[in-house]
Amino acid sequence: MLLQHMTMSEFAARRREVTTAVLPVGACEEHGPHLPLGLDAMHALALAQETARIKPCFVAPPVWYGLCRSSAQHPGTVGISGDVLRALIHDIGRDLWRQGVRGLCLLTGHAGGTHQACLVEAGENLLHSTGLEVACVCVLDLLAGARDFLECAGDSHAGEVETSLALYLWPELVKGTAAEAYPTFPRFVLVRDKLAHWPSGVWGDPTKASADKGRRILEAEASALAQVLSGLEARAGAAGTPPTP
Ligand SMILES: [Zn+2]
Repeated sequence: MLLQHMTMSEFAARRREVTTAVLPVGACEEHGPHLPLGLDAMHALALAQETARIKPCFVAPPVWYGLCRSSAQHPGTVGISGDVLRALIHDIGRDLWRQGVRGLCLLTGHAGGTHQACLVEAGENLLHSTGLEVACVCVLDLLAGARDFLECAGDSHAGEVETSLALYLWPELVKGTAAEAYPTFPRFVLVRDKLAHWPSGVWGDPTKASADKGRRILEAEASALAQVLSGLEARAGAAGTPPTP
């Protein structure tokens, strides 16, 4: 149930039965030389839609921007501050609550640590300012069911996982190839010249990617996310709860 495609009447009818929503969050961020800048939001949105087939839920219009730190200097990365991200997520969550949503899953396709911390903080604020039950999930948290066929253990950005998903879902947007690469950021120290420590923009091994792996990754992620949504729904006592006007 894509919110952006529903009418007022359709939403009013469905919210009597469905009170859980997924908010896909991404980033406009470099994804190596071969993948599109919007991949994180595209991934989170596609996963939410796939999950909605198994576990009915509203899929809110995605947040296409996020907080990008390590990739900030790469061509094409356009980020927002933590203050803006927290406020944006909080406002969207508050209004989804006002519209009858009782369980909200913040699903991020962008795995940056600072970015995820902002989502957690916004979620905590929503717990106190509304009656929402909130889950914060990163797509990388949902890969347990794919570990038996994934080959690259340290893969997290524009590598085996994301390249496989793109080959499966948007093959026309995969432009050429990229090699296995990892950043060389020092521990503890924050560096000004991030490009010097991560010129490739790849964190993992895209040479291990395939469209078939992409299909299996999406299935594994959707199955894991459906369980998160069921847990949220149980916490919220959501099924069948009439919305607050
Ligand atoms: Zn990504």
